[in-house]
Amino acid sequence: MADRIPTLDDLGDVAGKRVLVRTDFNVPMENGVITDDFRIRSALPTINWLTERGATVVTASHLGRPKGQPNPKYSMDPVRARLAELAPGVELLENLRFDAGEEGNDPSFVAQLIDGIDAYVDDAFGACHRAHASIVGPPQTLPSAMGLLLQKEVEVLLGLRNDPKHPFVAVLGGSKISDKLGVVEALLNTVDSLVIGGAMCFTFLAAQGNPIGASLWEPDQVDTCKRLLDTAGERGKTIHLPEDIVGLDADGNFATYGVRLPDGAKGFDIGPGSAAAFSDIIMDARTVFWNGPMGMFEDDRFAAGTRTVAQAMADTKAFTVVGGGDSAAALAQFRLDDEVDHVSTGGGASLELLELGDLPGLDALRKAPNA
Ligand code: ADP
Ligand code: MG
Repeated sequence: MADRIPTLDDLGDVAGKRVLVRTDFNVPMENGVITDDFRIRSALPTINWLTERGATVVTASHLGRPKGQPNPKYSMDPVRARLAELAPGVELLENLRFDAGEEGNDPSFVAQLIDGIDAYVDDAFGACHRAHASIVGPPQTLPSAMGLLLQKEVEVLLGLRNDPKHPFVAVLGGSKISDKLGVVEALLNTVDSLVIGGAMCFTFLAAQGNPIGASLWEPDQVDTCKRLLDTAGERGKTIHLPEDIVGLDADGNFATYGVRLPDGAKGFDIGPGSAAAFSDIIMDARTVFWNGPMGMFEDDRFAAGTRTVAQAMADTKAFTVVGGGDSAAALAQFRLDDEVDHVSTGGGASLELLELGDLPGLDALRKAPNA
């Protein structure tokens, strides 16, 4: 932890060198067309830093889940075409996950990747929580560094973890409940309060003894939620849960409830009272981390809670950080993505860095020969 992670300056003179840059070009696509090139544009500062100093840049990324086999559906061609427009002359290797050696961290695949390469740069924050070949392999032998994007992510997220301005509020939602309970536990060490919406709230509401109808929940996590509620109480922290819920009744009609849902009712968003209360908490905070939409915002009927929270993130004077693919998509949908201080490019990686304070990719860079 204490050892530093080498930065671009630690690569020395890169003129005339071939530098492998591990980027996160895992962009959303529909019918072979890129629907959002944010991740490609995010890699440009590092690519330009290197090319301006005379390096030849070779980029490499995964795209989708081709499961270790070539698959035209996950070809890098559309990304390569867009990259050629944004950064002419920069190479891009084929989808790393076309080779099982990537996810298997196979030394022979690492050797193939770094053949003819003089230095390595990791700018793929969204993949740093995976000990895959392209993340942990090259720094074992090559002079290595984190790129500018990765550096910013690490500064912001470790800053939140180690030295946040108080009150520090974490707003959590979304549907990946068990995946995220670990970070709830870790966040109780640093936050002053937690705000929980999205599908995640129902397992907590159930842990408090409320009937939750047919809402999405994880029964085997009820005990964990009970323990987290107790732990928060013992440490003088507050876990704020919704006081009202909107959704569909057993007949499929739009309905508003308190926290006790009738049989067959499904909660799909926090209600207006909860949205206003959550918004006030965000406005009064000095640091806010938000991960996970407050409801099924893809459906207009259930977007209001997420929209209110997003607007509060934009309006508050607090330092605001948003992590998570769907949360970032919600912000973009409401055109508020420029109104927060930092939108993380990594969902799982941002949660794991907050939870554990380190990632396999960062650890590998710290052990590089030039570190
Ligand atoms: P992120 O990508 O920001 O980490 P998740 O992947 O955990 O967020 O969750 C996002 C998904 O959660 C969205 O597709 C949204 O529709 C869904 N969701 C949020 N609230 C609910 C709910 N009450 N019921 C069902 N799905 C929900
Ligand atoms: Mg998601």
